[in-house]
Amino acid sequence: MKRSEFLSFSPPALSDREIEAVVEVLKQGEWLSSGPKTKAFETEFLQRVGAPASLALNSCTAGLHLALLVHKVKAGDEVITTPMTFCASANVVEHVGANVVFADVEPDTLLIDPAQMERRLTKRTKVLMPVHYAGHPADMERINAMGRSAGIPVVEDAAHAIPSKIGDQWVGGSENLTVFSFYATKNITSGEGGMITGRPDWIEDARRLALHGMTKNAWDRFKKGGSWKYDMPEPGFKYNLPDMSSALGLVQLQRLDELYDRRMAVVNAYHEAFKDDPMLKFLKVKAGYQSSHHLFVALLNLEALTIGRDQFIVELGERNIGTGVHYMPVHMLSYYANKYGWKPKDFPVAFDAFERMVSLPLSSRMSVSDAGDVIEAVRDICATFKR
Ligand SMILES: *Cc1c(COP(=O)(O)O)cnc(C)c1O
Repeated sequence: MKRSEFLSFSPPALSDREIEAVVEVLKQGEWLSSGPKTKAFETEFLQRVGAPASLALNSCTAGLHLALLVHKVKAGDEVITTPMTFCASANVVEHVGANVVFADVEPDTLLIDPAQMERRLTKRTKVLMPVHYAGHPADMERINAMGRSAGIPVVEDAAHAIPSKIGDQWVGGSENLTVFSFYATKNITSGEGGMITGRPDWIEDARRLALHGMTKNAWDRFKKGGSWKYDMPEPGFKYNLPDMSSALGLVQLQRLDELYDRRMAVVNAYHEAFKDDPMLKFLKVKAGYQSSHHLFVALLNLEALTIGRDQFIVELGERNIGTGVHYMPVHMLSYYANKYGWKPKDFPVAFDAFERMVSLPLSSRMSVSDAGDVIEAVRDICATFKR
């Protein structure tokens, strides 16, 4: 039986608490930009993941850009990252004039493969940038060791990775500059927003660059007793997060455990339904890791189906199920293909996964009964188009 209502792929899970928190900022009416709410958001986030320092930003992309600037990545330098990511991870490398170097991914997690990274190290490599794809932490033990022995910093794209853990350390708890996203579809949201964590002196550099490069922020200048005086040693950017967004993000952060439990109920229902299904595979969670399960990526057994992935998505849509594809590998996007001369199969594992992948709906707003509708629709399509 087809669902009567369209199931959105990943809507935000908001409660009255978020609405009240934003309204409260508007009602006090004194300060709308980065102020006390943003400070509180930074502090609670830091405490939650055990970070050495934290800085709230208006996007994760901004944080990745700042991380490369803090590490002084320049024209002609190289940054090693994964093609299986959102284009923002690579775009920031282009923004600083450096070159993107891709290392292919591992087939069962679609995480960047440390062995492939190692093969691509050169004298020009300035940063290693793993992405915690779908919320499963990359192999940080090996990647950190590689960075240490080459004398190269590691920047973690943790856009998907809250709450994610390696052993008992949260992603965000290390000295590496680590960047989270609070974009509207992410595990917790501030509408738009991001957070960068890591070594305190690097975070202070990022803080200055995030606000025009000025030595003092507006809250410190305009509060009672504040001084108007400031310097600007280097032109920066406008990447700060306003209090209205922080108020929203703060409540989402406080609800993280509840939101994660609801997400996991859906994930567990999918795992249970598909664990022995020959028509599709899902990503593995390796022992010793906790994934935030930002995405539920199904890899279709195309050899057993008469339709391809694109038609599978059309069929799900006709059954009122929203989906996504995460991601079209970045080396296939025309800018990158043209600039670097990459062919789709230059990164064969990423390419093969791309052709098979469908992200099923997953959010903390979904019920287990919604998940049941998705499972039923997937099974119906598999049965209808079995080879
Ligand atoms: C969403 C996302 C980003 C960008 O996040 P914004 O907050 O929208 O800038 C970067 N990397 C990955 C892997 C993402 O999924």
